[in-house]
Amino acid sequence: MALMTGEEYIESIRKINMEIYMFGEKVENPVDNPILRPSLNSVRMTYDLAQDPEHADLMTVTSPFTGNKINRFTHIHQSTDDLRNKVKMQRLCGQKTAACFQRCVGMDAFNAEYSTTYEVDKKYGTNYHENFKKFMIYCQENDLTVDGAMTDPKGDRSKAPHAQEDPDLYLHVVERRPDGIVVRGAKAHQTGICNSHEVIVMPTISMGPDDKDYAVSFAVPLDTKGLFMIIGRQSCDTRKLEGSPMDVGNSEFGGVEALTIFDDVFVPNDRIFLNGETEYAGMLVERFAGYHRQSYGGCKVGVGDVLIGAAAVAAEYNGAQKASHVKDKLIEMMHLNETLYCCGIACSAEGYPTEAGNYMIDLLLANVCKQNVTRFPYEIVRLAEDIAGGLMVTAPSEKDFRDPKLGKYVDKYLKGVGDVSTENRLRILRLIENMSLGTAAVGYRTESMHGAGSPQAQRIMIQRQGNLGYKKQLAKAIAHIEE
Ligand code: SF4
Ligand code: FE
Repeated sequence: MALMTGEEYIESIRKINMEIYMFGEKVENPVDNPILRPSLNSVRMTYDLAQDPEHADLMTVTSPFTGNKINRFTHIHQSTDDLRNKVKMQRLCGQKTAACFQRCVGMDAFNAEYSTTYEVDKKYGTNYHENFKKFMIYCQENDLTVDGAMTDPKGDRSKAPHAQEDPDLYLHVVERRPDGIVVRGAKAHQTGICNSHEVIVMPTISMGPDDKDYAVSFAVPLDTKGLFMIIGRQSCDTRKLEGSPMDVGNSEFGGVEALTIFDDVFVPNDRIFLNGETEYAGMLVERFAGYHRQSYGGCKVGVGDVLIGAAAVAAEYNGAQKASHVKDKLIEMMHLNETLYCCGIACSAEGYPTEAGNYMIDLLLANVCKQNVTRFPYEIVRLAEDIAGGLMVTAPSEKDFRDPKLGKYVDKYLKGVGDVSTENRLRILRLIENMSLGTAAVGYRTESMHGAGSPQAQRIMIQRQGNLGYKKQLAKAIAHIEE
C-alpha cells in the first residue's frame, strides 16, 4: 500500500473507535476536539513531510523487508546513515511543529523489539521475532503510527513489580489461554497514544525471576476492548477552547499524553513479543531508552530552533537586536542547541549492528545526549525569557486587543519598534510563552527532563558504560604507579 497523505492519516484515526476521557467526560469525537486536535496535527506533519518532494528523501526509505517505499518512522535502521538520518528527520519535524510529534516512540520501540526478540528466540526457541516482524511489516505497509508504552505507574519505588501491595502497579499477565494472554495494568504519560493506530507495550525496568508475569511485551490496536485513555492536563490547555488562537501562541500544533489503562486486555499469541523471559526485560528497556535518548538529540533541537528564532524576532520587535548582550545570549542559545545535535549525531555515527542485523546507537553517547537535554533546554528557555521581557506573561488577551474600546489602548501602549504591529509583537511573545510555560512546555521543557527517562536513569547508564576502571589504569600508567 502507498504512503498515507496527511488527510488520509487523519481520516484513518477518525475510523478507530477509541475510548478517551478528558475532564471527567468521554470524548466522542477526539479528532475534532479543540484541545486534542493540535496534537493530531503534529503527527500529521510526519505524513505531510513524507509527501513533500523537498523532504521525501529524508522522510522515506526503502523497506529491506518488502522493497517498498515506507515512512522512515516505521523503518528498521540498516546503517549508521539510517541512524543519522533519523535524527535529522526529527529535527526537521520539530522545526515544523514546535511541539512533540509523537511518532518516534513507535520507531524506537520497533528497533528495540527487532533486536531483542531475535536474541530471546535464539536462547529459548520462541517465535517472538517472527511475530514482531509480521506486525512491523503490517505497520510499514499500511503506514501506521505506533505508540510505544513503557512507563508503569511503579507505586512504591523501593519494591519490585511482584512485591507491590497492589499487583497492578506494573502491567502484568493475569491469565494465560491457549489462544493468547490477558493483561492488566496501566502505562503513565503515554505520548501520542490517542493519535496512534497501534501500541507496543514493553516492560519498564529490569526484572528478576519472581517478576515472570511482568516481563511481557506485545502490540494491540487502539480500539481493543478494555483499553482506555485518560488525557493528561497541560498548563493553559483550555485556552484552546476560548476561540482566541493568538493567545495560544502555537494554535496549530501540540503534543498529548494520557494515562492508559489496560483493564483485562486480551492479546492473541501472534502479537506477543515477550512473555516471562525476565532476563530480557532489561535488554528491551535499555535499547528502547537508548534509541529514545538519541531521538531527543533531534526533536528537541528542532523545537529549540523555533524558540531561538522566536527570541531573535522578539529582540528585533523590541528594538534590542543590536545590544551586544542580546547578540551574545542568542549565540549561547545556538551553542547549547547545536551541542545537543552533536550528541544526537555522534551516538548515531558510532552505531553498530546488533545480532539481528539492525543498527544500535552508541549507548554511552546516547545517554550523555539525553543527560544534556535535561539541562540545556532549561537554559535556552531562561535566555529566551530574558530576551523576550515580562510582557510574555502579562500581556492582555486577544479579546482585549480586539475590543472596540480597549483595543486601541492595548495597541498604543504595547507597541515596540515603529514598523512592527503590536499584533505581531504579541504573537511572537505568546509563542515564547507557549514554548516555555504553556502547552508546548510539556514537550520542550518538562519532557526534556523526564521523557526517555529521568536524569538519574541516564547517570546510572553513564556509570555503567563509562569504563572508569580503564580510566584509572590510564592514570596509573602515566604516573608510573606499580601496585
Ligand atoms: Fe519524538 Fe521527541 Fe516527542 Fe519523543 S519527545 S515522541 S522523540 S518528538
Ligand atoms: Fe518523549
